Amino acid sequence: MTALPRASLDPTELYALRALRGVNLASVEELLESCELRILAPGDVLLSLGQANRTMYMILAGRLTVHLDGPTSEPVATLETGETVGELSVIEGANASAFVVAAEASRLLAIDEPHFWNLVNASHDFAINLLLSLAQRLRANNSTVSQNIRLQREYKRNAMIDGLTGLYNRRWLDDALPRFVKRYARADHGLAVLMVDVDHFKRFNDTYGHAVGDQVLVVVGQTLRAHLRPTDLVARYGGEEFAVILPDTGLESGTMVAERLRTAIKEVELTCGETTGVRITMSVGGACLRAGDDAARVLERADGALYASKHGGRDRVTFA
Ligand code: GH3
Ligand code: MG
Ligand code: MG
Repeated sequence: MTALPRASLDPTELYALRALRGVNLASVEELLESCELRILAPGDVLLSLGQANRTMYMILAGRLTVHLDGPTSEPVATLETGETVGELSVIEGANASAFVVAAEASRLLAIDEPHFWNLVNASHDFAINLLLSLAQRLRANNSTVSQNIRLQREYKRNAMIDGLTGLYNRRWLDDALPRFVKRYARADHGLAVLMVDVDHFKRFNDTYGHAVGDQVLVVVGQTLRAHLRPTDLVARYGGEEFAVILPDTGLESGTMVAERLRTAIKEVELTCGETTGVRITMSVGGACLRAGDDAARVLERADGALYASKHGGRDRVTFA
């Protein structure tokens, strides 16, 4: 990086500077000419993250890139001819917040702190341009922040969704069921929970292969979803086991829903490799929320009922 003591300035370059838009150049010419010129070769690092910086740079020619993780990391922004960099550090007296590197041979006008404030005092338009560029940066930051929030929500969503079936996962259930139980504890309209388990699924896998088994689990998930109200919730509890939350549902309608699901699964004709018309069955255990229950208690009862269905011969519904 070469620093020349005095700037010999080309007026067309000055006109292209955004920070000087509308500024009467004659009134600041002398000031600008007493600033340093910086010549950068491609790859030269102008600013490093955390480095103390009290200089604003106006890009007279060339292009710089901004990097967060290191001078050679993926650039997050590009600064073109006419733009400025470093003004925030000057105003705040803060250290550089990123790496700034020359992407090509560049010429910069370096406005140090005393020159900077002299410019602000000398030109109202310079001050306004500065405000505008700061506002723009703030807006860009805000949009980055909201983008991050969106991403975070997405990650959170993904952590709650089962990758194979697209249904909620066990983690979601562990989080959601206690909230349902709490909400329905004092309500007189009930809450029912179903535990659903595919019968002899190990045998199925052994016969048709694990990949076909996976596809069947997707079909089971879709079939359950298709035979429930939009307000009912299905989660893949694990393996070939699903949990269903039925809000505003008592014993009678809970049993009806469970029977509907059981029948719907039985009726699906699967194509497994060469074999068509393959059918599966499932067993269901149900439980209704009782006074004093917590989420674990309801699940436990539903699980006990599922066990009873299995022992009673499978392909059936039991309510505890
Ligand atoms: P039961 O009627 O008593 O439920 O018999 P089952 O064979 O279904 O039950 P068991 O618990 O003995 O075996 C469950 C099987 O489910 C074992 C495993 O191969 C299969 N399984 C669990 N998760 C997955 C999965 O993600 N994909 C596939 N393809 N199979 C799975
Ligand atoms: Mg099973
Ligand atoms: Mg099982």
